[in-house]
Amino acid sequence: MAFLTEDEPPRGVALPVLPGIWRLVARNPSVMTYHGTNTYLVEGDDGLTVIDPGPADEAHVADLVRAAGDRPVRRIVLTHTHSDHYGALPALAAATGAAVYGYKKSARRDFTPPNPLDDGDEVAGLKAVFTPGHAADHLSFAFGVPGTGKILFSGDHVMSWSSSIVSPPDGDMVAYYKSLERLLGRDDVLYLGGHGPLLTEPRRLVGELLEHRKTREATILAAVKERDWTVAELAEHLYHKTDYRLKIAAQRNVLAHLLKLEFEGIVRQAGGATRGAPDDHVPDDLPPADEKFVSKREIEGMLTDAERRFVLSR
Ligand SMILES: [Zn+2]
Repeated sequence: MAFLTEDEPPRGVALPVLPGIWRLVARNPSVMTYHGTNTYLVEGDDGLTVIDPGPADEAHVADLVRAAGDRPVRRIVLTHTHSDHYGALPALAAATGAAVYGYKKSARRDFTPPNPLDDGDEVAGLKAVFTPGHAADHLSFAFGVPGTGKILFSGDHVMSWSSSIVSPPDGDMVAYYKSLERLLGRDDVLYLGGHGPLLTEPRRLVGELLEHRKTREATILAAVKERDWTVAELAEHLYHKTDYRLKIAAQRNVLAHLLKLEFEGIVRQAGGATRGAPDDHVPDDLPPADEKFVSKREIEGMLTDAERRFVLSR
């Protein structure tokens, strides 16, 4: 696939992207986040709108406040509530007094958007496009830029540098396919994603992402026709990842494909491990997940998921 790369961007400064739009790259680089999360500043008649505050990092919040300067931050808008996009929200909202907007049904138990958005709603010229799949509460935002045309803040649904992880149950492969197909039917000329540089000719990549998933799904189905596999075995067979985080990410994607095939009645789980089943060995007093550490309970859930075994339905 035609993914893009870029040199490490300067930290702590607002990088001009398009007229009236700047990008601040947070200091959270990793194999999962590339150089870090993109926070966008969009200038409007009454001040600034921030798209995705970024990870919980005081320095990033200070950078954002400094970049805003004497322009008031009127609104904070979320593409989704994963920690690398949501984490700085409480601090930035407190520092600026901005109104907070996000998808009406948050995927976080500890957050309800004060200003809920639904598909098609508009705020400060940003039109919400519901694009679940990577996250259950994922919105993209369509925006018109004079001289450029229609652009889309595509969050982590479509990114220029990598494909997205689809990790059940928040991630859903059936929804992800539909959301990619939805974007194929649009005519946005540029995407500004949650990580990585600006994406030109976006529909070409969207088409490739969809084809890539269909090919992956066909490979998984062919493998399951040969024999039954656990999620971990199949991920190892297909991806050969050595980095622990990439190995887990591969397992999550394989599980998401298998659950799509299960939803379609093509495969079924063969007894054994079921997420959310007996977990009495997991203590209750666990720390909440954040952008650096997933909770012990989540890790337990992922390890359990990796042992789930799938067979052909008929
Ligand atoms: Zn992200």
